Amino acid sequence: MTEIAYIGLGSNIGDRRKTFDAALLTLDRADGISVEAVSRYIETEPIGQPDQDRFLNAAVKLEVDITARRLLKLCQSIEEQHGRQRSEDIVWGPRTLDLDILLFGSLICDEHDLIVPHPHLPTRRFVLGPLAEIAPNAIHPVLNLTIGELNERVLASENREYSPSVSCSSSKP
Ligand code: ATP
Ligand code: CA
Ligand code: CA
Repeated sequence: MTEIAYIGLGSNIGDRRKTFDAALLTLDRADGISVEAVSRYIETEPIGQPDQDRFLNAAVKLEVDITARRLLKLCQSIEEQHGRQRSEDIVWGPRTLDLDILLFGSLICDEHDLIVPHPHLPTRRFVLGPLAEIAPNAIHPVLNLTIGELNERVLASENREYSPSVSCSSSKP
């Protein structure tokens, strides 16, 4: 049985665009996977470790007839092909390629090495933005909200954070 899965891509080292293009080709050529849609590649500010280069982020829609766990292994091997080095002590540090499984059909999985939907999906604008481009109506199976709705929520909460405080000093006659 086939499933629709979505993967988020991130990179802030090397030729980020070329790395994304190559990773998408590898995914499409893999047995049991076809690439159905790709978002725009967007530039974003790093989180966690601000002292690093800007990221390129994107999302991709896949049709798969492999398990989520096999997809994770494949993603990790593609990251390695692109020279991804994992550092135990630097979280959210620089990387040539990061491939995260965002959604896998309506699967809900909470294991130590595989959490689906991706735990940070509802709060990350740089993930939701590209994903909303290609899957605005996809449902987050835990929250029961669409990706479009989650994206609106993140944008609205950011606007609240950054809007200047309103002065309430005007006195009515
Ligand atoms: P974040 O998860 O906050 O985006 P990260 O992408 O930098 O952080 P990694 O070092 O790439 O984290 O991955 C750490 C571990 O996350 C991996 O070893 C993998 O087993 C696990 N993991 C759990 N759920 C997922 C998922 N949905 N997609 C990819 N990796 C996952
Ligand atoms: Ca990630
Ligand atoms: Ca990752």
